Amino acid sequence: MPSPTGPLVTSDRVHAARALAAESGTDLLVLTPGSDLRYLTGYDAHAMERLTALAVPRVGEPFLVVPRLEAPMVDVSPAGALGLDVLAWDETDDAFALLAGEATARLGSAPARVAVGARTWAEHVLGVQRALPGSALELAGPVLDRLRMVKSAAEIEELALAGAAIDRVHARMAEFLTVGRTEAAVGADIAAAILEEGHVGVDFTIVGSGPNGASPHHELSDRVVRAGDVVVVDIGGETATGYRSDCTRTYVVGGSAPADVAEWYAVLHAAQQASVAAVRPGVTAEQVDAAARDVIADAGWGEHFIHRTGHGIGLDSHEAPYIVAGNDLPLEPGMAFSVEPGIYLAGRCGARIEDIVVCTDDGVRSLNGGPRELVELPG
Ligand code: ZN
Ligand code: ZN
Repeated sequence: MPSPTGPLVTSDRVHAARALAAESGTDLLVLTPGSDLRYLTGYDAHAMERLTALAVPRVGEPFLVVPRLEAPMVDVSPAGALGLDVLAWDETDDAFALLAGEATARLGSAPARVAVGARTWAEHVLGVQRALPGSALELAGPVLDRLRMVKSAAEIEELALAGAAIDRVHARMAEFLTVGRTEAAVGADIAAAILEEGHVGVDFTIVGSGPNGASPHHELSDRVVRAGDVVVVDIGGETATGYRSDCTRTYVVGGSAPADVAEWYAVLHAAQQASVAAVRPGVTAEQVDAAARDVIADAGWGEHFIHRTGHGIGLDSHEAPYIVAGNDLPLEPGMAFSVEPGIYLAGRCGARIEDIVVCTDDGVRSLNGGPRELVELPG
């Protein structure tokens, strides 16, 4: 059934990448399995020692270098419909020499500048360098980030589905998060629910109870949840199309929040709302960060907000644009990112509120729902 928002992967992406690379003077892009390759071609290849790479020369058509035993998988992936040239190599071939020779032939001379993906394995980067000894290597990030950070309508709907799926997990938190259970046991149930509610993979389950909540990236431990604990639950997963969810809510289990916690939590809540409300085209990423940070700092809690306000999200959980001081990138319609300020009191507890939002033509759309207040669970 055709999607009302159009296909997820189209061949204009790889041509747009070629145009952007050419504009910046890059002669050849080389992208190995991962989100950049999946974004440009729809091919969700698994990373391994055998070389799979999309080569995008500045002139001429892009081509895929793949191990012959995996060539059938390209055909059945969305990449099969894009009409890319596929160069299959046999087990005893030099795949890097194949890539270098073909790119040089298409360009008419060896590339002076070759850009590789940020997460390309070192053995593959060094293989490319060996096969093209006269080429200068650089990162393809500027080209790929530029394309990937502005989502199409179809991508935004995928992120909205992911957001609704993770919201359903948070809505079930009373089932999992109860007094007397360890964070690890709670996390195992949450991971199962992430899969039940519409994901194909679990990216992370952070259950930071009591003092563990003061460590923003604490995952799980054997600490037993006690009555009255403040618990940070930050969870996310991968959907079938590769798009990610990421949502944080903070709970109080088996009791009410102490008065002082309620007081600074109200500051955090106001900060998160101010930051979301600041999102619109033309506002810079650092202004969205400042909108949250100023509220927290003005209330005297600035030193306890120890991370950036957010990160882009798409085929990766963390990608451009980063919502951080120093990033003067103006927001554009279609940019999707988290807004997740937190307050952390070492040795005691922490709290964070995180929504995924999209910059629209005239403002902002939140892809998460559910209460942002401290949620009291019966315990
Ligand atoms: Zn998160
Ligand atoms: Zn996040």
